[in-house]
Amino acid sequence: MTIKEIMKYIESEYSVINDTPCEICGGQYLAEDLNIDIIDDIPYDVCACVCSNCGHEKNFEFCAPFIDDDGLKKVKNILN
Ligand SMILES: [Zn+2]
Repeated sequence: MTIKEIMKYIESEYSVINDTPCEICGGQYLAEDLNIDIIDDIPYDVCACVCSNCGHEKNFEFCAPFIDDDGLKKVKNILN
């Protein structure tokens, strides 16, 4: 997994987040933190988001079978 491939994946996640309006006020979600959860042996990329308008919090989950510890470190470096 190269940085470029990971970036592509993260960008597609962000476009999903950007296309999802806040369920409370219709505002835009901002990504706050990114974590990997293992559910049934499949890693899920869990993005904690908060509405920029009303502060409502929502977790976006994306299946991320390619991500291992090393990949997660790269993702965190990109986000920071
Ligand atoms: Zn909101």
